[in-house]
Amino acid sequence: MAGSDSSKLYEVLKIQRDSYRQDGLPDPKTRMERLHRLSNMLIDNQDKIVDAERRDFKEKSPTLIRLAEIMGTVSAIRYTESKVEEWMQPVPLELSSEYESLGARAQIVHQPKGVVGVVAPWNGPIILSCMPLAGIIGAGNRAMIKPSELAPHSAALLETMIKSSFDESEVAVIQGGIEVAQEFTGLPFDHLLYTGSSRVAKLVMAAAAENLVPVTLELGGKCPVIIGADANVMLAAERLAYGKLIHAGQVCVSPDYLFIHEAIAEDFVKSLTQAVVRQFPSVCDNTDYSPMLNSAHFARLQALVSDAERKGAEVVCINPRNQPIDPESSLKFPLHLLLNVSDDMNVMQEEIFGPILPIMTYGRLSEAIDYINSKPNPLSAYYFGSDLEERNSICGEVTTGSIVFDDVLCQIFHEQIPFGGIGNSGMGRYRGREGFTTFSNQVSVLLQTDKDEVLKGLRPPYTAELQAFIDQQISC
Ligand code: NAD
Repeated sequence: MAGSDSSKLYEVLKIQRDSYRQDGLPDPKTRMERLHRLSNMLIDNQDKIVDAERRDFKEKSPTLIRLAEIMGTVSAIRYTESKVEEWMQPVPLELSSEYESLGARAQIVHQPKGVVGVVAPWNGPIILSCMPLAGIIGAGNRAMIKPSELAPHSAALLETMIKSSFDESEVAVIQGGIEVAQEFTGLPFDHLLYTGSSRVAKLVMAAAAENLVPVTLELGGKCPVIIGADANVMLAAERLAYGKLIHAGQVCVSPDYLFIHEAIAEDFVKSLTQAVVRQFPSVCDNTDYSPMLNSAHFARLQALVSDAERKGAEVVCINPRNQPIDPESSLKFPLHLLLNVSDDMNVMQEEIFGPILPIMTYGRLSEAIDYINSKPNPLSAYYFGSDLEERNSICGEVTTGSIVFDDVLCQIFHEQIPFGGIGNSGMGRYRGREGFTTFSNQVSVLLQTDKDEVLKGLRPPYTAELQAFIDQQISC
């Protein structure tokens, strides 16, 4: 990146920081007005958003774009708008009764952090750039967004929309590839939100560490699904088919692999196949079925299937009309079920992020849990079944960012549920109130009592009464 471009990043950061300091603490009305402007921006530009995303993802469903990218983002912003005044109130803290009886009080007050950097991935180019703004703007901050270069039409539209709705001192979009992203993540932001792969997150965190910038990392991983022996097979199959194939598996919380109780494995695979065919009676010519981003991503999936097959997997390709699987004619990749998988297959090592579903069976739940816990922490884990003991084991023993019982992926539809991973799948949480908290500096405030009788007893010269008090406090 040229030096002048690099200085442009610093210039925007300075403009935002100066303006933030000059304007002082934004009141609830200002924050709500900015949030309102943001949701109106998306609503007013909905046709352009659909058009831009369909240029990045050829033949992606307009309904899915409107549902996931526009409706999902608008409802997140509106939720924060309706709650922000309440969240801005100081949160009282409980002190020991002795101090409270003397009149001391404590509370948390929320200050904006300042300027927040947002690095977004390609798979949800509008939602993953704009949804974080709900918490960022709600908490009173300014924002600089670096969208993904892999969805260039959506990124260009985002810049145009933001420019026409916000002053550069409020929200700005920075375009560019990996070099710009590296410069961007090295800026001395007041907070940095990165959404993307675990591999790049390590570089992002190292860059942020140079300036001790606090980070929130929203990453991916291999989200497991367990089908318990008493699961409602038909319902689980329908929900799994939908959750695995929405956006063709290119969602961070997409089910990655499946553990089925051996007693129902055959039945379940049959029901899953039927559910997929019911929801997607064809693949290549079906608007409801999402394409892969590009031919490189398509080829990566083909290579995963070939590698698994070569190493002994049985491959079931669900392609009801036997349409050609050829990236030259269509980037739609049918769902491939992989049976008899083993750990040496690449598909069991990396996040799939597409329509391939490895399937394993288990006899005792502990086998599935031990397997999951032997791998990097998943972003989410799913269990179908009503056995309370099994549910408790999953809640207590599987280390993950979120758990859903009797469904997959739907946790992301609720602003009230904090979102984030653990370890390899991420660090920190946002969405809803959690977003407001993450992008706020939570200041501890103590309002000391003006009654000095007790407090003066703590000051030198130390007395026998103080010694007796200490003895009493630290005795067994
Ligand atoms: P990507 O390639 O679009 O990269 C994400 C961003 O990182 C881009 O803006 C890119 O410019 C930037 N980047 C690339 N190299 C960089 C570097 N060296 N330093 C700084 N920034 C750099 O997206 P991706 O990584 O392919 O995204 C897919 C991953 O994101 C998957 O693992 C998926 O699970 C995860 N994801 C997570 C969430 C979540 O909310 N947890 C949401 C969506 C996607």
